[in-house]
Amino acid sequence: MTFEPAPTKILYIDDDPNNRALVNRLLTSYDFTVLEAETGLDGIQLARAEKPHLILMDINMPGLDGHETTTRMRSIPALEKIPIVAVTARTTKGERQLAIAAGCDGFITKPIDIDRFPEQVLSYLDGQRDTLTMQEHQHYLNQYSRKLVDRLETKIIELQEVNGQLQKVDKLKTDFITLAAHELRTPITLVYGYTRLLQSTMRNLGASSAESGVGELADRIFESVHRLNEVVNDILNIALIESDEMHLVRQSVDLAEVVEAALRELDLGKTNRNLNISLEALDGLPHIQADPRRLQQVFWNLLSNAIKFTPDGGYIVVKGWLVDTPHPGITIAVRDTGIGINAADHDGIFEQFYIVGDTAYHSTSKTAFRGGGMGLGLPIARGIVAAHGGRIWVESEKHNPKTNPGTTFYVYLPQTDDAD
Ligand code: ADP
Repeated sequence: MTFEPAPTKILYIDDDPNNRALVNRLLTSYDFTVLEAETGLDGIQLARAEKPHLILMDINMPGLDGHETTTRMRSIPALEKIPIVAVTARTTKGERQLAIAAGCDGFITKPIDIDRFPEQVLSYLDGQRDTLTMQEHQHYLNQYSRKLVDRLETKIIELQEVNGQLQKVDKLKTDFITLAAHELRTPITLVYGYTRLLQSTMRNLGASSAESGVGELADRIFESVHRLNEVVNDILNIALIESDEMHLVRQSVDLAEVVEAALRELDLGKTNRNLNISLEALDGLPHIQADPRRLQQVFWNLLSNAIKFTPDGGYIVVKGWLVDTPHPGITIAVRDTGIGINAADHDGIFEQFYIVGDTAYHSTSKTAFRGGGMGLGLPIARGIVAAHGGRIWVESEKHNPKTNPGTTFYVYLPQTDDAD
């Protein structure tokens, strides 16, 4: 039985595809296996995965340059012994020494001398190592660290500038959203009022109006405007939370009443969802100092989600208990037997406008199965809970609309000193 010797692997890191193609062709014809990377970071990853016998390193690259990539590789135990040869067009005095001070073992100049190149590569594979005297080493190491600090400074300035621009754009977005929501609110309030008026006028007209069907139309308009109003309020609330301007009106609050009010507001009686909703151990809980209107919104959002993401016939349980950590307070859990949420989405769902899955299937409803919203319910809930000094988090094994693994949202609210 004969064994094929393992091929000699050479990793070539260069941002120029033409250079890579040339080196690849040359070395492949000498039976080397050539791996290519376009950036220093990709090169490090590939070297870690493939453990090449030799690395050829371009020096002038965007991002991490060849010197920095080499220095980084030298600090990774799996890569520290692999010979690295700089391949560069930089031929000014001291370039060779600089590359070696950065951790390279050799230096080949570009343009590559096609006749000599395979031989040069072989000699490095056979153990050739270029070295510096102690004095040279110290001198070029100093020069290299000054270069690194210069680069670091330039990068920090660049990042600060970009960060400033991002903040400006973010503020523009928030200002626009707030302004648009405010502008929408005025006409909505008017339509809301007139629809109410129309409804009561139709009711006063009695039987004749029922026959005409106009009353029912007015009811429909009212429902739509009501929903539009909720959407605009959500946007305004997010803007308040983002600018830290959510002011709480604290009073002594019975959480059982808050949860019951949220459920009443959802008005499940009108739907045919056949869900089993129960409240457990909420009655015995002590009152806390909190803003009941805001908390009602938190539980409205959590219950509305539990209802939307639990198939007909499922169970939703709201349960509460006292906790001692991190401070004495109450934790309320909203548990459902619904479609669940993948672990990868557990943080994202608390971010604004985050929608899990495909928005193509988006349908707006607060109670229909898998009805969607704007992805603002949980960020608002988190903002309100945070304003109370509390925490909200989710537990769910995974997302699976076939097996319905279920989801539990937890809300922890601390008991403030002046709570009764
Ligand atoms: P929306 O207002 O669009 O429902 P939310 O911020 O309330 O937005 O929720 C964001 C996303 O988190 C939802 O679109 C849904 O994919 C997921 N989600 C929230 N609650 C549940 C739940 N109880 N079960 C499964 N998925 C949920």
